[in-house]
Amino acid sequence: MNTEQPIRRVVIVGGGTAGWMAAAVLSKTLGPRLEIALVESEAIGTVGVGEATIPQIRLLTGLLGIDENAFLAATNGTIKLGIEFDGWLRSGERYLHAFGRLGHDLGMLRFHQYWLRARAAGFGGSLWDYSLNNAAALQGRYAHLDRVEGTPIEGLVRAFHFDASLVARVLGKQAIAAGVRRIEGRIVDVALDNDTGAVDNVQLENGERIAGDLFIDCSGFRGLVIGQALGAGYEDWTHWLPCDRAVAVPSASTSPLLPYTRATAREAGWQWRIPLQHRTGNGHVYCSAFMDDARATDALLENLDGEALAEPRVLRFTTGRREHFWHKNCVALGLAAGFMEPLESTSIHLVQSGLSRLLALFPNAGLRQSEIDEYNRQVSFEYERIRDFLILHYHANERHGEPFWDARREMAIPDSLAHKIAVFRDNGRLFREGDELFTEVGWLQVLIGQGIVPSGYDPMAEGIDANKLRGFLDNLRGIVNGAAQQLPAHSEFISGNCAAQA
Ligand SMILES: Cc1cc2nc3c(=O)[nH]c(=O)nc-3n(C[C@H](O)[C@H](O)[C@H](O)COP(=O)(O)OP(=O)(O)OC[C@H]3O[C@@H](n4cnc5c(N)ncnc54)[C@H](O)[C@@H]3O)c2cc1C
Repeated sequence: MNTEQPIRRVVIVGGGTAGWMAAAVLSKTLGPRLEIALVESEAIGTVGVGEATIPQIRLLTGLLGIDENAFLAATNGTIKLGIEFDGWLRSGERYLHAFGRLGHDLGMLRFHQYWLRARAAGFGGSLWDYSLNNAAALQGRYAHLDRVEGTPIEGLVRAFHFDASLVARVLGKQAIAAGVRRIEGRIVDVALDNDTGAVDNVQLENGERIAGDLFIDCSGFRGLVIGQALGAGYEDWTHWLPCDRAVAVPSASTSPLLPYTRATAREAGWQWRIPLQHRTGNGHVYCSAFMDDARATDALLENLDGEALAEPRVLRFTTGRREHFWHKNCVALGLAAGFMEPLESTSIHLVQSGLSRLLALFPNAGLRQSEIDEYNRQVSFEYERIRDFLILHYHANERHGEPFWDARREMAIPDSLAHKIAVFRDNGRLFREGDELFTEVGWLQVLIGQGIVPSGYDPMAEGIDANKLRGFLDNLRGIVNGAAQQLPAHSEFISGNCAAQA
């Protein structure tokens, strides 16, 4: 769709995390050029979940110039060093997808190749012995640490847990201060231009019409503009990721305050645990073909580690993505763009990366179909790679005799994932493709954690004498352990730097 009309008026439909992120980012970066309005309806409300992030969230706070400690204090936030997967391979087994690097690469070769060689020779210990994030997380410790002093070893890599409704408030305040006009009201109609079929305006219940040149659909699962008005289809991925419901409930905080998210496998899905300063966020993601809402709710309530603080709430979803994320003059972000369960905390990141791609391709004099196509190509690729990563967690399980898990193990998987697993299985080779989100180290931990251990390793790993290799690995483990033990408790870090105001 090529048009010559300059993009001046941007209308953001929806004021959840996605809408306010879009408002804050666009007003910060293109503010003086654009007139930005955001429409939200208090009566409809927001989805009200979405509390765990990945390290890229710090690019957002950095871009917006938000002080991190003040942000954590304002959102009851805590530090997140990774995600613990409990029972995903087999009941009783656990591993962390820890952020940051593992060990130290040598020459041209990734660290894990040396570890694989040592493992084949019967030494080297666990892969996670070489992760500082893992050690600090499991010991409940945290302090800012860019590098382990006197060594080339990377320090701790952090993301945040936070209260999503408070995040929207912080971003909203900043966006409004930067000139974004907030409009309260329920949208009852979306009017299209007769000639182009593009969106002309949205109409509120009180009759007011809000016209725009570009519409950002952040209306949540309903996809009010992109789906309902413009008819952009939805690609359903439930044959790969069949969980279609979640029940969520907050519970009282418990001690120690853990600096990581926990994802515990359950009979027909999994349970999340997200520690915030004032409460713990919990939810049970499940597949309705294998478990009904009542059983899922009971299972959640039976497995809380503090008293429930509210009535459990059931949410329904269909895993998948829009066939077009940007269609005509509408860009969908957040739940309106697609949904993948929060197993690797990727949804808020997808809003952020959608915004960064939109900025990289922001229409200059008018809309250009080539730029719209490029946006859709990039976002599709990112969604599909994340999808594959999530499927891996389910598919590579050894929970034999449990119908839900047996079906996940036996299902056909996307060719792209099958290929990635096959290349890894032979000699531990992993390649990050293009702009895919998860690094080799992320894939590595989940592959090994899910029991996929390569039968060989890269021949270049033979380039070091066995005794030297043993010394190198012992030294790295010593550095990781020593550095972790010197860190204060996570709760001490929070109370000393970013305690929420009571
Ligand atoms: C169970 C679950 C757990 C999740 N956990 C995580 C997580 O840990 N980490 C993570 O990154 N993400 C997570 N997510 C995803 C995350 O919650 C969302 O990506 C994020 O909250 C963005 O939501 P949204 O703003 O797109 O939609 P919503 O929060 O639903 O907001 C929609 C907005 O549109 C407005 N609206 C809708 N219709 C109209 C109308 N007719 N008129 C006017 N306004 C309208 C609403 O009022 C609201 O303001 C989770 C999602 C679910 C379902």
